[in-house]
Amino acid sequence: MSVNDSVFNELNFMRKVLVLLVVLGAFWACGTGKSLVTIDKVPIVASLDLVNVKNDKVEVSIDPGAFLSDMVSFKIPKTVPGTYSSDNYGAYVQDLVALDYSGRVMEVVKVDANSWDISNAKRLDKLTYWVNDTFDTENDMEVPVFSPAGTNILEGKNFMLNLHGFIGYFDGYKEVPYTILVRKPADLAATTTLPQEVDRKPDPAWDSFVAKRYFEVIDNPILYARPNVETFAINDIQVTLSVYSPNGVYKAAGLKDRMEEMMTAQKVFLGDVDSTKEYAILLYLSELDTPDAQGFGALEHHTSTVVVLPEAMSKERLEQVMVDVVSHEFFHIVTPLSIHSKEIQFFDFNDPKMSKHLWMYEGTTEYFANLFQIQQGLINEAEFYDRIKDKLANAEAYDDKMSFTIMSENILEEPYASNYQNVYEKGALINMALDILIREKSNGEKGVLWLMKELSKQYGKEIPFEDDLFIDEIVAMTYPEVRAFFDDHVIGKVPLDYARYFAKVGLAMVKAERQTGYFLDGENPFIDVDVANDNAIFVRENIPLNSFFVNIGLQAGDIIKNINGTDISLESLRSIIASSYGWSPDTKIKIELLRNVEGIVLEGKVGLPVLLENKIVVVEGVSNDFSELRSAWLGQ
Ligand SMILES: [Zn+2]
Repeated sequence: MSVNDSVFNELNFMRKVLVLLVVLGAFWACGTGKSLVTIDKVPIVASLDLVNVKNDKVEVSIDPGAFLSDMVSFKIPKTVPGTYSSDNYGAYVQDLVALDYSGRVMEVVKVDANSWDISNAKRLDKLTYWVNDTFDTENDMEVPVFSPAGTNILEGKNFMLNLHGFIGYFDGYKEVPYTILVRKPADLAATTTLPQEVDRKPDPAWDSFVAKRYFEVIDNPILYARPNVETFAINDIQVTLSVYSPNGVYKAAGLKDRMEEMMTAQKVFLGDVDSTKEYAILLYLSELDTPDAQGFGALEHHTSTVVVLPEAMSKERLEQVMVDVVSHEFFHIVTPLSIHSKEIQFFDFNDPKMSKHLWMYEGTTEYFANLFQIQQGLINEAEFYDRIKDKLANAEAYDDKMSFTIMSENILEEPYASNYQNVYEKGALINMALDILIREKSNGEKGVLWLMKELSKQYGKEIPFEDDLFIDEIVAMTYPEVRAFFDDHVIGKVPLDYARYFAKVGLAMVKAERQTGYFLDGENPFIDVDVANDNAIFVRENIPLNSFFVNIGLQAGDIIKNINGTDISLESLRSIIASSYGWSPDTKIKIELLRNVEGIVLEGKVGLPVLLENKIVVVEGVSNDFSELRSAWLGQ
């Protein structure tokens, strides 16, 4: 049998329109009938048109049921869960128009960056507006939207639909379900964990998704791209990996094996924790030389994660970063997705109240993302200690005397906001120390993973905990020493004495010298170029300097003018760096520099360049108790 496709499609389309008009008359026939169906009785229909893109913008229409009140406020989120920043997604919405049932334009008052008030709301039929994307405008923003929470509109090629950037909610109606209709280019396909609703499609050129409430709209991003997708099963979890690689460098098929190995190990590590039945990894690889996403990392959702990384990364590096980043996001199914406070359960997208427990939401998650790799044999002991050492070094850049609970509940404001990154450094170390403490008290049997499993049994996705009572509960489930631990190091401002915890598992922190280059430590230079100051070459600030810099007398901020009679420019410095690889410790050097406005001359031997850093080592000859506890901790 043969059917003419165009006729078939037309017939099919007409049939669907008919079905639609009958079944969904309320959504589409915006006439007198509509006002009979009130907003709480019918889904809000949000339509996005990805075909008729204009000036890099997408048109959106929002069609709710009838309002019974005289005034209604339409809002786009200021903040979304997991980002801990005020991003004002409403600022990307333009030309918002409200139409009444007779198609006349209604008066709209823009209240702030994210809110629009509509009076005469009983007459409101629908809203239309245009949405600009965040990826292209990152460079213009002082604090850009973190790319994995951002949006991309690249006509005909790619649409990263973090839907909080496109679809808003009516104040008081966040619990109303949504139907999301997307008119899509024929060659692009959607990857998302939002369920499709095939029978509601207006025609084959549209996708139709459903969300039970507004939270589900923003919890399920959609990536539209040319299909580059792989799926695999981890026990009973169906995992989809969808990749957008603008120059076709990476294929999902080539990245699948490492992801599968890693997530299998995660599942074994977690054991019987209740988890999702499906999970989507949306990987957006960006370009570095055009306006594109530069906020590399990922954002967690209950059933998916958006990952943004540079396409220019080598495969080896990309795979390792994917292992670290995706495992972190997947562990978020434990916390905050299963264990969270009321502040998160009833998240206010425009006036969020922050929970006190970032030590857990991000700290435990990041700790697990490293611990499971040693426990499941993806990395060895030395590599694990190296990671801990890096966290110790990175944490030094932040305020060690800042209470983690106070920081957490004020994370949107300074001075807390600029310490946020420490949740991944000290936050993980807090969990390591707590893990060792609980292991010690339970003769190696229990740890932080045990604690999280108990808590997720008690709470879970739908039941939030009381923010202020949570630590008391943890103490009641564990040991009195855990009370002091939280009082001092999480609520209080007492820095953690890591050596004390390492000693419990037969480890010690020692200072060790590591050789570097004279001007570079691997790929990291000790000097930099001040483009704003005539390309002056200066000694970098806020980094540890190697022994060559320290012993010759160079200081952070010094401007290097002349080395061994050669005036220093970007070009001349390159040849000096090249020749420095041939220097011996006895090579003599004369450096002329500018410190503030003072000219200074330094002279001496270059020596052997080394950096002094912490190293975590196994202490030999300690009692078996310590090494047994270490084995229990690392699952060896
Ligand atoms: Zn995280």
